[in-house]
Amino acid sequence: MNTQHTEKARGGTGGKVIARFDDSIIAGLRQRLPDYLAARGVELRRNGTRLVGRCPVHDDSNPSFAVYGANHENCGCYPCGFDGDVFALSQWLGRSSNFPEAVQDVSTVLGYYLPESTAGTATRHATPPQRPAKQPEPPPLVLSDADREKIRLARLRFSDAFHAGDEIIDRIAASLGLDRETLRHASWGESGLGLACPVNSREPWLCYAYPNGLKWRNPHPRTTPRFLWIVPKATAPWRMEWVKPGTATVYLTEGESDCLALIAAGLEADGTAACVASPGTSFLPSWAPLFAGKRIVICFDLDTAGQAAAAKVAGMLQGHASEILIWKGTSSHA
Ligand SMILES: [Zn+2]
Repeated sequence: MNTQHTEKARGGTGGKVIARFDDSIIAGLRQRLPDYLAARGVELRRNGTRLVGRCPVHDDSNPSFAVYGANHENCGCYPCGFDGDVFALSQWLGRSSNFPEAVQDVSTVLGYYLPESTAGTATRHATPPQRPAKQPEPPPLVLSDADREKIRLARLRFSDAFHAGDEIIDRIAASLGLDRETLRHASWGESGLGLACPVNSREPWLCYAYPNGLKWRNPHPRTTPRFLWIVPKATAPWRMEWVKPGTATVYLTEGESDCLALIAAGLEADGTAACVASPGTSFLPSWAPLFAGKRIVICFDLDTAGQAAAAKVAGMLQGHASEILIWKGTSSHA
């Protein structure tokens, strides 16, 4: 992640801006990574040749963030998948969005005035840029009429079956360990629940309708694939349209059935929170700005893969969400 950011920043902003910074200044700032981390509130302790501490991005109870290198000029967090120097770190923390801005941020944090700074720009540097790193523009979405129709039909079939009181709805509810009321609640909106009838299947399949996407859930527990993307162009997490300007807290789950379980548990009951789902652990960086200003509770699986993915998503949301929490299970509160 870091390499990509650094190279993008160096290549993307043009050499002429960077040339303003003297190489020796850059090298000097790079070696002050531990000071930069200290200024950002990261306590480090020596462990062999490394300095270790708690990751500034993910909820890190067991220090997994390490500073290493001959001059302690590199750092990384294994669960987050981050690795890089102080300038990459600045961008990863969302304090800058390219290399020149990162140099400004690091200088400011360390109280170092760049020789090039005029009085005017020096004042401006006193408040380092806080805006989030820019995300690449997604390609324009072209959803075919056929794909649009698949989503519409799936939604319609679910709605019809629900209102007709069809037994399939009860079977789906039972298979998910949920009640009809939760399914009804979750089926509202642009993205929600649908039903599809695949060829060679006697039983309709439950579908998850995403904004511009449709995912089928295999009702037979021991057969593969477990899921099938029929329209694979989801442009936002599942049920994202439930996140309104007035929504304070967003619960982000790993998969749709966990999301349904949170709805069943009443997390949306008071109207201040919304439950949305990432399709498994695959959360796209382009979705992060959708969570601007929200308090996010990432409720991914408690296994290693789930927690690593949660930390990665937390990194993507950094600079967008107002607060990021990673749910660690109820045992920690007991
Ligand atoms: Zn981390």
